[in-house]
Amino acid sequence: MTFDSLGLAPDYLRAVADEGYTEPTPVQRQAIPLVLAGRDLLAAAQTGTGKTAAFVLPILQLLADSDPQAGVARSVHAKPVRPPVRALVLTPTRELALQVEESVRTYGRHRPTRSVAIYGGVGFSPQASALRKGAPIVVATPGRLLDHVGQQTIDLSRVEILVLDEADRMLDMGFIRDIRRVLALLPTRRQSLLFSATFSDDIRKLAEGLLVDPATVDVAPRNTAAELVDQLVIPVDRERKRDLLVHLVGSGRISQALVFTRTKHGANRLAEQLGRDGIPAAAIHGNKSQGQRIRALDDFKAGRVGILVATDIAARGIDIEALPHVVNYELPMVASDYVHRIGRTGRAGVGGRAISLVCVDEAELLRDIQRLLQRPIASELVAGFEPDRSVRAEPLRAVPTRDRGGARGSATPGRRRTGTPTGGRGPVAPGIGAGRGPAVRQHPIALPGERLRRSGGPAHATPHAAGAGANARTRP
Ligand code: AMP
Repeated sequence: MTFDSLGLAPDYLRAVADEGYTEPTPVQRQAIPLVLAGRDLLAAAQTGTGKTAAFVLPILQLLADSDPQAGVARSVHAKPVRPPVRALVLTPTRELALQVEESVRTYGRHRPTRSVAIYGGVGFSPQASALRKGAPIVVATPGRLLDHVGQQTIDLSRVEILVLDEADRMLDMGFIRDIRRVLALLPTRRQSLLFSATFSDDIRKLAEGLLVDPATVDVAPRNTAAELVDQLVIPVDRERKRDLLVHLVGSGRISQALVFTRTKHGANRLAEQLGRDGIPAAAIHGNKSQGQRIRALDDFKAGRVGILVATDIAARGIDIEALPHVVNYELPMVASDYVHRIGRTGRAGVGGRAISLVCVDEAELLRDIQRLLQRPIASELVAGFEPDRSVRAEPLRAVPTRDRGGARGSATPGRRRTGTPTGGRGPVAPGIGAGRGPAVRQHPIALPGERLRRSGGPAHATPHAAGAGANARTRP
C-alpha cells in the first residue's frame, strides 16, 4: 500500500516522499483517513510507530482546506488579522513538543502552516511574541501553556482540533489537572485525538470525557516492540558493569547506544566515568537545562558522542532514527518501562539490539520483564566478566508512588522487591539470582520521587512524581 490512497493532497504526498517514506506505517494507514473524515480517535500507538505523521499530516490538510482567512479580500489599509489557534497538540515533555513541531514544519514544507512550540525551562517572551504573530498550530506542554493562558498571551477559544500525544505519560507525570484545565478552555465542538502507548483505567476515563464516538486504532498491542528487537542479557557483577560496557564498546560490539540508568545521578556519573575511560558520552535527564539536553541529543545524533546515557523519562519521546543499540545498564523497576526502552531501537521496521547488563540484585526485575514478554530473554556470558556466584543479592526495595495504572501495575505501592528467588515464576537467565538465599543486607537504590522502605519500617508514599524527575515537580 502507498500513501496515495489515504486521501492526502499532493503537497503532503511530496513531503512524505521527500522524507523517503515509501509506504505508510499501520497507524498512518488507519488513522489518516479517519482524521481527514473528522472523526475523534483513540489510538494505541507507541513512539516509533510513525504516530506523529499519522496526526500531523491530516491536521495540516484539514486546516489548509478550511482556512477561514483564505480568499478573504482585504483592503490594503486593513490591520492584519491574527490567525487563531486552530489545532492544539499537548505533549508530556519539551523534547516531544519540539519534535512534533518540527514534524509540522517538515510535513508542511510544501504548504506551510505556521506553528509554535510552547514549553517550560526557556524564556517566556519569545514564545509570547511568536504567539502574537499568530500560529494556527500550537504544540505545548500543559504547564507552560497554562502560564500563557494566565498571561493572556494565547486564546484557545477557537481550537478546532485537539491532540493528546503520549497521554499515558502525561498522566504518569501528574498532568491530569492541567489537562482538565486546558480542556475547559476549548470549544466543546471540536475534533479530539488521543494517542497513548497503554490503556489504563485513568486513560479510559479521560477518553470517555474527551472523545465523541471515537474510532479506535490499535496497531501496537502491548510489547510488539519486543518482537522486533533482538534482546540479550549479559550477567555481570554489579561493580563490573562499567568495565563490561567499556569492553563491549572497545571490542566494537556496541557502536552507538542509548544507555539507560535508573537515576539522574547514575546517568551523570556513568557519562563522566565513560568520558574518563576514553569513551565520549553525554547524559540526558530532567535536571539538565533545555540547552544541555538539546546539545547532548545533537551531539549524539551527529555521532560526536557514541553513548547517550538517559533516564526513562528523558528518553521518552526523543526521536533518534536507526538507533542500533539500547543498553540497559540498570534494569527498570517497572517491567513495562523495559518495553518502552527497547522500543527506542528497532524502529519503523529497522532491526535493533537491546543488551541488558544484569547483576544478581536485579533477578526479580528480570523475572518480571520475562513474565511480561511471556518468554525468556537469551543470555550470554562474556569471557572475563562472568559473575561471581558467591556474591549475594542486595535487593532493591522501593515503594513506587506514581499511579501506575494498567500495564504499570506490576509495581504496586508497598510491594517488596527482594532478590529472593520465588520458585515457579518463569525462566531466569543463567547466573542471575538462582539458588540464592534471602537478602542479608539492605542496599536501597533511590528512584526519583520514591522513598525507600527500610526493613520493618513503614512505607511512605509521596504524591505524584516517581520516575518523572524534575519534570514532575517543575513544569516542563
Ligand atoms: P514516531 O512514532 O512518530 O516517533 O516516528 C518514528 C520514526 O519513524 C520517525 O523517525 C519518522 O521519521 C519515521 N517514520 C514515520 N513514518 C514513516 C514511514 N511511513 N516510513 C518510514 N519511516 C517513517
